Amino acid sequence: MTLSYNFELDRVLKEINRCNAKRILIQIPDGLKPQAFTLATTIEKNTKTKVFLSASPCYGGCDIAINQARILNVDLIVHYGHTPFRSELEIPTIFLSAKSFLDLNSVLKKAENKLIGHDIGIATTIQHIDELTIVEKHLKNLGLNAIITPKEGHSYYSGQIIGCDYTPLKKISNYVDCFFIIGSKFHSLGACLAVNKPIIQADPYTNEVINLKDIRKSLIVSRYTAIEKAKKSNNFAILLSTKVGQYDPKTAEMLKKEISRKEKDVTMISADEISPDSLSNFQEVDIFVNTACPRLAIDDAAKFNNSILLPKEILVAIGKMEWENLLDTGIL
Ligand code: SF4
Repeated sequence: MTLSYNFELDRVLKEINRCNAKRILIQIPDGLKPQAFTLATTIEKNTKTKVFLSASPCYGGCDIAINQARILNVDLIVHYGHTPFRSELEIPTIFLSAKSFLDLNSVLKKAENKLIGHDIGIATTIQHIDELTIVEKHLKNLGLNAIITPKEGHSYYSGQIIGCDYTPLKKISNYVDCFFIIGSKFHSLGACLAVNKPIIQADPYTNEVINLKDIRKSLIVSRYTAIEKAKKSNNFAILLSTKVGQYDPKTAEMLKKEISRKEKDVTMISADEISPDSLSNFQEVDIFVNTACPRLAIDDAAKFNNSILLPKEILVAIGKMEWENLLDTGIL
């Protein structure tokens, strides 16, 4: 099979030699799994290393399979598709971006008449980060001013967008007329809830370019409705993920305290993988309060039996924050 992403095999082989790794665990996002067999067998043929391919989901740099690696007794985790969240992990881990070989020219041409204004904030996923200079040049040739988002928050590179931390976009929001995001809907949808600027998304895989204006409006209405429901509810459960990059006991404890003060009943639910299925039997709960991956509350909201709210949304529901303030600072 021809690999359509750069799996950086040379780097992996070098790292295996450097660590003298006898057993490795490969974590790879679902979209890259179709090519994982070739990857694993190539590594085994070229080293004396035993390779384990993780079938578990691999959502982000937050999601390092430490427990799996511990049980499999591996010396090295090879994590594809994301950049690190934390510098200290108990098992040596290398992060490989899996850069795409896709040409962006066609989708850039298609986007030309959809961009709004003169100053355009640009960002993309790690897979296309090397192409951002091409995007910048393309916009400059159109007489536009391209501003690459800075390296802030969990973003490891300037111009990198991730689904849970939009600090880089917020930092330049006052200086741009719109944001131009190259990537899937996942990242641009989050951007809609983080910054109050037009979001133009160009998907290089489908060659589609869309303005997310209407999607933003309906998302905000649904978030408002969920908050209103929470105001009238009594039974709350705080969701605490045990994934290394999502575990946030401080926020969970703070919210538990604040909700209790309002004389509502509240408990904590923990899991490595929080999903609509894993929560479906907690039927007494009215509202789930999500301190894990914030995207559960946005992308998967309709799949949960009960409302699932983000920390700031709960603060609005219990009167500790104003709705307008939430919109100003961004729901995400
Ligand atoms: S917390 Fe969610 S959005 Fe952020 S990296 Fe992890 S899976 Fe992606």
